[in-house]
Parts: sequence; C-alpha cells; structure tokens
Amino acid sequence: MTDATPQPVSSAARTLFTELTGAEPVGLWSAPGRVNLIGEHTDYNDGFVLPFAIEQRTHVALGTRPDGRIRVISTVDPVPVEIPLADLDLLFPDDRTDVPEWATYPLGVAWALLRTTGARAASVTGVDLAIASSVPIGAGLSSSAAIEGAVAMALNETWNLGLDRVALARVGRTAENEAVGAPTGIMDQMASMLGRADAAIFLDCRSLDTDIVDLGFAAAGLELVVIDSGVAHSHATGGYAERRAACERGAVIMAVTALRDLSVADLPRAAELMDDVTFRRVRHVVTENQRVLDTVQTLRERGPHAIGDLLLASHASMRDDFEISVPELDTAVEAAMAAGAVGARMTGGGFGGAAIALVAHDKVKTVKDAAATAFAASGFAPPTVFTVVPSSGARNDP
Ligand code: ADP
Ligand code: MG
Repeated sequence: MTDATPQPVSSAARTLFTELTGAEPVGLWSAPGRVNLIGEHTDYNDGFVLPFAIEQRTHVALGTRPDGRIRVISTVDPVPVEIPLADLDLLFPDDRTDVPEWATYPLGVAWALLRTTGARAASVTGVDLAIASSVPIGAGLSSSAAIEGAVAMALNETWNLGLDRVALARVGRTAENEAVGAPTGIMDQMASMLGRADAAIFLDCRSLDTDIVDLGFAAAGLELVVIDSGVAHSHATGGYAERRAACERGAVIMAVTALRDLSVADLPRAAELMDDVTFRRVRHVVTENQRVLDTVQTLRERGPHAIGDLLLASHASMRDDFEISVPELDTAVEAAMAAGAVGARMTGGGFGGAAIALVAHDKVKTVKDAAATAFAASGFAPPTVFTVVPSSGARNDP
C-alpha cells in the first residue's frame, strides 16, 4: 500500500513555466479534482448528483505572448504543444489526433472559450500555459475537470471574457465532449468550479441549479477514504457509451425527456415495457436519483453518520443493476465495511477507478490496512489509499 498525500504543486507549475519560457508567469490558477459522494450516471440523465471538490488540484502558470499562438506543456509530457490560436478551429473537432491526447484538454478549453463567447482568435493575446497536478489521473477523481477548470479560469481572466463559474463549467464540458471527444456530463466541472470547504454541491443536472450541503465530516469525527484500485478506466470507449445508450433507450420507451422524469413508482411499469438489461439500467438511475435526494435530506437532518446505508445501496445498484463495478472495487467496499466503515461505494464512471469509504477517524488506519490485505489476498495489485477533504473550487492563486 502506498500513501498519496496532497503535495503543493503550484511551484511545480511555476518551475515548468520558467523552464519553458525563461520568464516568470503573469499568474497562477488552480482547480480541484472531485469526489462524487453519491449520484452516479445520473448527470447525463438530467438527474441529481452530490460531488465535492477535493484538496488535490491542477495548477496552471500562464504568461502572455505577442504572436497569437498558444503553447501548452504539462508535467505528464516533456514535449510542449504549440499552435496558432486561429488554427484551433482546424484542430477541433475533426483533427484532434494531430496533437497528443492530453493537449486536447487545455487546447480544447481555449477553443471552447472562443467559440462560446464569439471572441475572435485575433482579438485575444497569445499564451503559454504550464500545467502541474496533484490529482491522480484516471482514478475517478476527475483530473480532466481539474485541468479544464484551471485552464478555463486562467484564460477567462487573461482574455477578459467575463464568464461566470457556471459558464466556465459549461465550457469545460464542451471541451471534453467536442474537443477531447469524451461523452461526459457536467457534474465534474460544476464540482471543480463551485466547490466549498467542508461542503458538497447538490446539483440538478437539468436546470444546473446548485445548493451547498454542509458535510460536517470533521466535526462528526469522520474522514473520507479513497481506495484507488489502479484499474484504468476509459470514458471515451465501450461500456460508458453503452450505458448512456441504454438510458436513452429507456427514456424513449417510457416517453419521457430523460430518466430524471421517472420516479421509483414508475418502475413496475418500466419492468413490463422493456427488456431486463434496459430495465436494470433504468432502475439504477431512477433509484440513484432518489438516493441523492435522500442523502441531502439525511445530511441536513441527521448528519453524516446516517448516510452509510445510502452509500452501500448505491454501490449495490451499480454492481448489480448498472454493472459497472469491477472485482477490485467490490473488494474495496467489502474490506472497508468489514473494517468498520460507516458506508462505502465505488465512485466515478466505473469499470475501474476508485471506491470511497466514510470512516471514523480512529478506524482510518484499520480500513487502509484492510483494503491492502484484501487486495493482496485476491491477487490484485496494491491499491493507493488516501483521505480527501472537501475543499474550495477553482481560483486565482497568489
Ligand atoms: P479522470 O478525469 O477520472 O482523471 P479522464 O480520462 O477523464 O480521467 O481524464 C484523464 C485525462 O485528462 C488524462 O489522460 C490526460 O489526457 C488529461 N489530463 C488530466 N490531468 C492532466 C495534466 N495534469 N496534464 C495533462 N493532461 C492531463
Ligand atoms: Mg474525467
């Protein structure tokens, strides 16, 4: 078992910038990753989610340049990518493979910002962006929204575009959907833009209305443990698209705009109208929406100790109805519960990534050890286990 404690990486972004340009950046921006407490695969069904931003952040150091070009570099790849801003329209969406995949995130945000605001490439300054992150990639903590949020904040301010946080979240999603080509919802970007310390964001993915829900983990003596299975997932391929298609099919069969428009009371009728697989996909989404609403109410009325059963029910629904868990994540949840967690579930899109467990402070070490032992006993590679703290959203850093 290894521990991944948050490292301050703003200095890494600054150093990378200076190595690239020989100059100091004009500004530093950052945006966090997120953990989704509950509400999985509900976002693209117009439903409810309850994510919170975490301390791990992606940092962007930005400098301007007079030649109308954009150059990006990241600690994940030593080779910078450079292109005239005016040529972003040639790259996206059709010729994205002309640049390495990671570069489609920052370049895609620049492209989406210009398109959204109608600003001409010639009317904004060229930029250099150096990116460093403490958000683990592909662990279900949304390193993608973190890089999108940090770049969107940096360019919005540098280019004086005046977009608010919700608009910047939309820009991030546009970049991810159309420039990167990953068909994801808007939850991650909203969490990264709107996060607050010690609180979650209750988001209605249809209206984009948000409400801050106090979590009070620390006051209740609880910690949120992430058990990263290390199993890679990919949103752009396979199972994710199939699940989306099943949800759309279910909505068509039930003659509703989105599965959000169904309630638990509609499920018996759904069972009669659709095949078993489609029904179980629908049942996951419908019950998961209700669990999000129940979790918000429970947090407000009874506090975080009372949400354990909802987390467990969410995991069972993803495992049995939506079928997006993997043996590593089931093992993580079972090990955490056996070691005394209040509740646990896989989090993120599924097919790998991480599980979360809500754990009393004095049981955190027991849960960490139990996860490592259970993974070893099953012959899985060691998980990475660490705690996350609900934290603030994207910002301009000093
Ligand atoms: P997740 O969001 O769960 O971490 P995704 O597959 O959605 O996983 O996004 C991960 C991808 O985002 C990476 O493969 C990479 O292309 C890009 N990315 C994330 N963080 C960075 C970074 N710091 N530098 C460059 N690219 C990044
Ligand atoms: Mg992502």
